Amino acid sequence: CGIFAYLNHEVPRTRKEVFETLVNGLRRLEYRGYDSAGVAVDGPNKLMTDLNSKAIALIKRKGKVKALDEALYKQDSLDLDEVLCTHFGIAHTRWATHGEPSPVNSHPHRSDKNNEFVVIHNGIITNYKELKKYLSSKGYEFESETDTEVIPKLTKYIHDNRENDELSFSTLVERVIQQLEGAFALVFKSRHYPGEAVAARRGSPLLIGVRSEFELPTERIPIQYNGALFKGDVKEKNSHNRPDPLPVGDGKAVEYFFASDASAIIEHTNKVLYLEDDDIAAVIGGRLSIHRLNRQAGEDPVRDILTLKME
Ligand code: GLU
Repeated sequence: CGIFAYLNHEVPRTRKEVFETLVNGLRRLEYRGYDSAGVAVDGPNKLMTDLNSKAIALIKRKGKVKALDEALYKQDSLDLDEVLCTHFGIAHTRWATHGEPSPVNSHPHRSDKNNEFVVIHNGIITNYKELKKYLSSKGYEFESETDTEVIPKLTKYIHDNRENDELSFSTLVERVIQQLEGAFALVFKSRHYPGEAVAARRGSPLLIGVRSEFELPTERIPIQYNGALFKGDVKEKNSHNRPDPLPVGDGKAVEYFFASDASAIIEHTNKVLYLEDDDIAAVIGGRLSIHRLNRQAGEDPVRDILTLKME
């Protein structure tokens, strides 16, 4: 029922600080109601045989955010003092629609036991039975009773059957959401795309907060259609003709906060971007870009970063 995700790019944070940011984000969303909570962060997973630095750890608990918070600090495989200069963590509070509240039905959901793709979801996938049937016929084994679990599995299926190695994380997600019916706000994390974030929505709310000490070159993000930038009348402050996807130059320090509700972001930054239906937002190398499939007549080809009023 609540989504919160946090990406720091070239901003040193200890794992403990990352956990605190994620848990505080979930606490701000508690008022929406929930029955379980979970996170996915970088770090070894006890079930994995090859422990490498790109591994993703999933920690999920039924009940209060407090139970999750306590569990986080008891993970002996995760060093709380380790400094993570670039890290992407995702967190979720669940209000069960399909499958009872339980640790395995809690989010994030995963593609496979190696946690190649992990996803948090708000909403309901109405065609999940068809997708589950199809993926089961391809050998995928489901561990939960949720509608959500088809999403990471479908992501892996499309990834494993890609035609070439160039498939970007956002194009992959674009192909996934084309198959989904119903309502969703989604945030994806993957071992195959370390340090990258992809988010998408249709019908469920999702916004992104941006925090940087550096001035943003533009507060109008041009949308990319089918991988190309819309060459329309986009106001730019930077000198070259092609607008930077935003918001800061390469390698500059920036942090992104993804949430279902501005109340979880406002303590960190008042610069926010509201995603619209079928928007796909991607952060690669600290740069945020917005993608859509096709431009509809009359559609605004930019998304503005708004400045929320601080109370
Ligand atoms: N339909 C999903 C589930 O039951 C997501 C529910 C939610 O929005 O929290 O797991």
